[in-house]
Amino acid sequence: MSDKVKKTPEEWKKILSPEQYEILRQKGTERGFTGEYYNLKDQGTYVCAACGLELFSSDHKYDSGSGWPSYWKPLKDSNIQTLEDLSHNMRRVEVMCQSCDSHLGHVFEDGPPPTGLRYCINSASLKFIPLK
Ligand code: FE
Repeated sequence: MSDKVKKTPEEWKKILSPEQYEILRQKGTERGFTGEYYNLKDQGTYVCAACGLELFSSDHKYDSGSGWPSYWKPLKDSNIQTLEDLSHNMRRVEVMCQSCDSHLGHVFEDGPPPTGLRYCINSASLKFIPLK
């Protein structure tokens, strides 16, 4: 990919809050039920908090009860990338922004139909753009 957004840690720190930097750039996780969007039901688009790429839609958001924003599919498969994550003695699949490689969350196979997938995403990794 030649259109990747690339910045140094210092550059990221200038545009992200300390919490966003830890989650997006150091693969952190916000505590459940503390984020801005887990309970949001408004119509709109969720973009990457680091680079603005459109990632998820309210059309695919559902209440998983997990305390994190949950979606059964991304807006576009090509806007995210997934990677096996063996940290914390678990086998999980990490979800990252395709454009800036920021950490978003994980995808699990216990979601609702039709995909059966649960994209479990940190609120801090997202910015909500309400439908006009
Ligand atoms: Fe991004």
